[in-house]
Amino acid sequence: MQDTFGRSINYMRISVTDRCNLRCRYCAPDGACVQADGILTDEEILRTVKAAVSTGITRFKVTGGEPLMRPGCADLLRRLKAIPGVQSVTLTTNGTMLAPLAKELAAFGLDGVNISLDAPERAEYARIAGADRLPDVLAGLDAALAAGLRTKLNCVLLPGCEKRLISLARFAAERPIDVRFIEVMPIGAGREDPGPDRDKALAILRTEWPGLHAVNECRGNGPAHYYADDALMGRIGMIDAVSHRFCENCNRIRLTCTGLLKPCLCYGESVDLRGALHSGSEEDLRAALCRAVAAKPRAHCFEDRAGITERRGMSEIGG
Ligand code: SAM
Repeated sequence: MQDTFGRSINYMRISVTDRCNLRCRYCAPDGACVQADGILTDEEILRTVKAAVSTGITRFKVTGGEPLMRPGCADLLRRLKAIPGVQSVTLTTNGTMLAPLAKELAAFGLDGVNISLDAPERAEYARIAGADRLPDVLAGLDAALAAGLRTKLNCVLLPGCEKRLISLARFAAERPIDVRFIEVMPIGAGREDPGPDRDKALAILRTEWPGLHAVNECRGNGPAHYYADDALMGRIGMIDAVSHRFCENCNRIRLTCTGLLKPCLCYGESVDLRGALHSGSEEDLRAALCRAVAAKPRAHCFEDRAGITERRGMSEIGG
């Protein structure tokens, strides 16, 4: 489906819970969450995805909160993957609960997993994440690779992260995975914490890998710009939405766990899907999806804080 600016919208991020077992200081430091009876059911999510497929949205990322906190999340992922017309289902997770599920996810053909990892050293990880869970995350990463899942690491460019960038990037030297660095977006607690931007991060990485060079590759759902070096098995990705806005290529829409369709991360506007879900009509669902796509603005305004109208945090939206 095309939006009013001619962009092709083929990707939906689906938040399946706003609960999280971490308290990352830039994301969900106090961990508020809605009551379970306000959360979309599996059936409602599946119906939304079927309607989305019929409008040309065929790629889905399951997110949260921490999606694996949702009871039965692996089964929901399996059912999403089995919907005719769905091209790709991937998961983004903090990795703490991944290890025991990795084989099952690989067995039904999950198309990939992104693991969030902001520090490779245990005490620093615990300070940022608010929980001493680094060993569980690394076990999740190893299990994902052993199961043959396509795996990426996501690391936020937090203030003070300069000293750990090379150790984080080294995961791509030692394993066949992409390591992606995400500029802090001024959403939720991220408003208080601008960290280094892409160019600063690249300059630091080039002190270790001077040959790191841009490659024109799309390796998933879109937004990362990738860099390669002969000494790295995987790629380095930069998700540089703040310093190098890439809205002209935006291909996405977001579904919150309470049934709101968000046209853009930056603004509070949303289309409420619950009326359409309660009516039971796929046509109503399609119409609501089309309204949300039609409402997509040309661009975010992260550089102009006053224009940002989204007041919720990333864990409520799905990142
Ligand atoms: N719990 C899951 C995870 O860790 O991937 C999914 C939800 S989490 C909100 C999704 C991603 O958003 C994580 O990689 C997290 O680091 C990132 N994130 C949260 N707040 C952010 C911010 N203000 N700017 C950039 N990325 C942010």
